[in-house]
Amino acid sequence: MTNAQPRSQLAHLTKVLEELRAKGTHFNLRVLDDQQAPVCHYDGREVINLASNNYLGLANHPKLIEAARKFGVGSGAVRTIAGTMRIHMELEEKIARFKNVEACVVFQSGFAANAGTVSAILGKDDFILSDELNHASIIDGARLSRATIKVFRHKDVDHCEERLRELEKEPGHKLVITDGVFSMDGDIGPVDKLAALAEKYGAIMMVDDAHASGVLGRNGRGSVDHFGMHGKVDVQVGTLSKAIGALGGYVCGTKDLIDYLYHRARPFLFSTSHPPSVAATCIAAFDILEREPERILRLWGNTRYFQGELKRAGFNIGGQNTPATETPITPIIVGEGRAAMEFSKALFDEGVMATGIAFPTVPEGKARIRAILTSEHTRAQLDRALETIERVAKGMGIL
Ligand code: PMP
Repeated sequence: MTNAQPRSQLAHLTKVLEELRAKGTHFNLRVLDDQQAPVCHYDGREVINLASNNYLGLANHPKLIEAARKFGVGSGAVRTIAGTMRIHMELEEKIARFKNVEACVVFQSGFAANAGTVSAILGKDDFILSDELNHASIIDGARLSRATIKVFRHKDVDHCEERLRELEKEPGHKLVITDGVFSMDGDIGPVDKLAALAEKYGAIMMVDDAHASGVLGRNGRGSVDHFGMHGKVDVQVGTLSKAIGALGGYVCGTKDLIDYLYHRARPFLFSTSHPPSVAATCIAAFDILEREPERILRLWGNTRYFQGELKRAGFNIGGQNTPATETPITPIIVGEGRAAMEFSKALFDEGVMATGIAFPTVPEGKARIRAILTSEHTRAQLDRALETIERVAKGMGIL
């Protein structure tokens, strides 16, 4: 039986939703009717998909599907009780070898990996130096740790150093943390310079490579490989949910770091482990990264082409008052939140799926649509998307 009466106890939530509607930034979830693919169906409409993080087209690769089928579902318990299966260990060993580190622990998501790790390795007497545009999961982990959070300006290494100097006399542990690739602007974090600073001040260095895994570095090994910083970054986080095409997150580092997280990271201790099918799928995906680097070359070829054409048409794709993209993440800056959401909706009606993003996810006045390239988009699909984006933008006075 349903209760049709509105619950006055929850009226403040309804009020927030009304405010979002008034501002034009309320959204309804778009529902994918088939599978992540360059062309697919959302809400019954065929679209060119520029919205997924399926960078290398692995989300429905036959080898991943075959691996998933073979291993079945449900691990039955958290890792520390009875839910560690051979396949979980094989995945961790595989990732550790791939990333050239001693050990790896897999979490249920990238979010859990970041939040669970930051909150486990620091406590209330410690300090976190965090880029102002770091991902929400880092921010939440920092808050959960109860350490003092010192935010530095985006990619501003000097500002980070200033903050480290202020803390020189403090006995607590210090953590310098940055995204490897920033998810809203697509720019690359200064991992090399921050790692050198961390070394100089005796701080722990951590990088979140959610959008760098499978995209940057040899065979997609991430930002540490991109900058040639092996051995200089203490904690490397990655996700299995984007280029790897499945679901999960992982932390790479020394044997002791990983053993410590086995004992202290709360999502590891208190939440059931991956279905074995997912772990098997991820192993198959790393095999493909090792064997088919041409996927990554195609991803970068599509990125250069698409971004070059947008610039030629006169779009602001970052770099003017916003960071400049350096990766397949392609922001098309519109300005006002309502305009960005309406642009995204108009594109959808014309068969192009590119998400509108507004405050508070990006700063006020810097709302945008975000397009993400994959290795699997064909030139013809990209041309069709480009033609549509330009036509719709001109019709709306955005270009
Ligand atoms: N870090 C960054 C920078 C991200 O963009 C995301 C995903 N939005 C995550 C972490 C979380 O990863 P997951 O989706 O695997 O939880």
